[in-house]
Amino acid sequence: MQHSPDALDAWRELPIKQQPQWPDPAEVELVSAELATLPPLVFAGEVDQMRYRLGEAAAGKAFLLQGGDCAETFAGATADQIRNRIKTVLQMAVVLTYGASMPIVKMGRMAGQFAKPRSKDTETRGDVTLPAFRGEIVNGFEFTEGARTPDPQRLLTAYHTAASTLNLIRAFTQGGFADLREVHSWNKGFAENPANKRYEHMATEIDRAIKFMEAAGADFEEMKRVDFYTGHEGLLMDYERPLTRIDSRTGDAYDTSAHFIWVGERTRELDGAHIDFASKIRNPIGVKLGPTTTPETALQLIEKLDPEREPGRLTFITRMGAGQIRDALPPLLEAVRDSGAQPLWVTDPMHGNGFATPTGFKTRRFDDVVDEVRGFFEAHRQVGTHPGGIHVELTGDDVTECLGGSEEIDEAGLATRYESLCDPRLNHMQSLELAFLVAEELEK
Ligand code: PEP
Ligand code: MN
Repeated sequence: MQHSPDALDAWRELPIKQQPQWPDPAEVELVSAELATLPPLVFAGEVDQMRYRLGEAAAGKAFLLQGGDCAETFAGATADQIRNRIKTVLQMAVVLTYGASMPIVKMGRMAGQFAKPRSKDTETRGDVTLPAFRGEIVNGFEFTEGARTPDPQRLLTAYHTAASTLNLIRAFTQGGFADLREVHSWNKGFAENPANKRYEHMATEIDRAIKFMEAAGADFEEMKRVDFYTGHEGLLMDYERPLTRIDSRTGDAYDTSAHFIWVGERTRELDGAHIDFASKIRNPIGVKLGPTTTPETALQLIEKLDPEREPGRLTFITRMGAGQIRDALPPLLEAVRDSGAQPLWVTDPMHGNGFATPTGFKTRRFDDVVDEVRGFFEAHRQVGTHPGGIHVELTGDDVTECLGGSEEIDEAGLATRYESLCDPRLNHMQSLELAFLVAEELEK
């Protein structure tokens, strides 16, 4: 997929959305030049391997689990919080492996998920209007002029925070922490909680499967290491472009800020800057598809991003809303199936189900999340395509941001521990519960 040297910059001439108004463009140039000299965060070989594994998921031979914050924060990149998130994803993956009887491809919305698209450029409180919060890679959350003014130095802080997060991810997932037996014993703790009685049966079955493997002489030492990939929305071009490098082996361009880059619902115009840039890099690419997506748009995105129909190259992440998925998804699946293309289909059951409570919390109902996941599986069964993965906003901590789940978090409970700077995340328990429910769907 070699392009002429300036192809990587063709996006600069195209309409672009959701970029900050930097107060001093010359400073951004300097920061970008510095970013361009820093080492890559991920390597071409890893990216190729991930693309291969996503291809397996698209073909129905693996399943993708992607989870992490809506918006990572610099202060949140602590050893404890990163460990808790990895732990949660690994626990979910064990349950899903059992339910799917297939390998689970694990990916964090981590180590780079710092930039946020916003519905408005500004935010008004009382008679004060300031730039909207665009994620800590751009500005601060605090509602003051100082914090909200975009600061290019944040690009460097984001890079270094991503580097240390990735370092910990690599250490945890390669250093023994991912031991299947250990992860399963954490899950037993979950299933033994009386509130989660419903999942005890499956946890017991997993236990028996592990005992069987042990008796049969499975090499658990080998299974102590797992591949854990990173992905984020490739939104902020002043970050993504300088981290894009040409692979000396092949001459191809790789965005080395993450293994997987997706284009969001608000920036996926066919002739816009983000899709053009994504079309020029070798990373596996995701595109979010909301309920208004037409079959024509889906087919045009395939043509533009995956003209060679390469397995694993393109992932469609649908975020339709529980009330709409059963109507909106099947026509897309049919049109894409009939075209002969085989993208990976993943459900994001979060972004179509948000609402604000009268007390002002952005939230989602756990039951709506589950309902959208069920609708996703139903649509694929109906059309005969592969439901290939799940993309969720979650944290490993006991926050109270989404309503419901076996702990029955209610509206009054949201105030107890609401920490997200952007969208509400499933907490540790809700995430595990979702994994058990998805595993049941996968077993069907
Ligand atoms: C997100 O993933 O946080 C997001 C903004 O999603 P979408 O582009 O689907 O709205
Ligand atoms: Mn979000």
